[in-house]
Amino acid sequence: MSQTISQDKVVGIHYTVKTAEGQVLDQSKEGQPLQFIFGRGMLIKGLENALDGKATGDKFEAEIQPADAYGERHEGLIQTVPRSLFGDNEVAVGMQFRASTDAGEQSVMIVDVSDDEVTVDGNHPLAGTALNFDVEVVEVRDADPSELDHGHVHADGNHNHG
Ligand code: ZN
Repeated sequence: MSQTISQDKVVGIHYTVKTAEGQVLDQSKEGQPLQFIFGRGMLIKGLENALDGKATGDKFEAEIQPADAYGERHEGLIQTVPRSLFGDNEVAVGMQFRASTDAGEQSVMIVDVSDDEVTVDGNHPLAGTALNFDVEVVEVRDADPSELDHGHVHADGNHNHG
C-alpha cells in the first residue's frame, strides 16, 4: 500500500533548491535522500505545504515565496556600529558571529567595513529570496514509536546517535 504524506510520517526526498535566477543553493546528495518526520517544523513552511498529501514516486516543482521560506528582509536588522566595539578583533565582510540585540541572541553577518564603522546584517542570508524546489518523493512510511519519541529518523533501523 502506498502511503501519502501526512503528520508524523517518515518522509525521504531528493531535492534541488535554486534562486529565481537559477543559482543552486542546496541539494540532496546522490543516493542519500533527506529524511525527516513530517509536520514538525523540520522544513520551511512552504515546502511542508507542497509535500502534504504527496506519495512515493511523486515529482514536482514548487516556487516558494519568502514569507513561506526564510521570511522577508527587515532593514531594521541592518545596523552600523562603531568599529571600536570590536576592539582588537579582526573584522571583514562576510564574517558571521552571534550578537546580543534588542531581539535577543542573533546570528549577524558583517556586510560593510569602513575605517571607523562596521555594518552588520541580522537577516537570514536567504531572507527576501523566493526559492524554487525540484522534489522527488522517494519514501513515505509510518514512523516507529522511538522515532516519534526522539523526533528524528532512525536510518535502516540503526539507532546510532554517535
Ligand atoms: Zn533516536
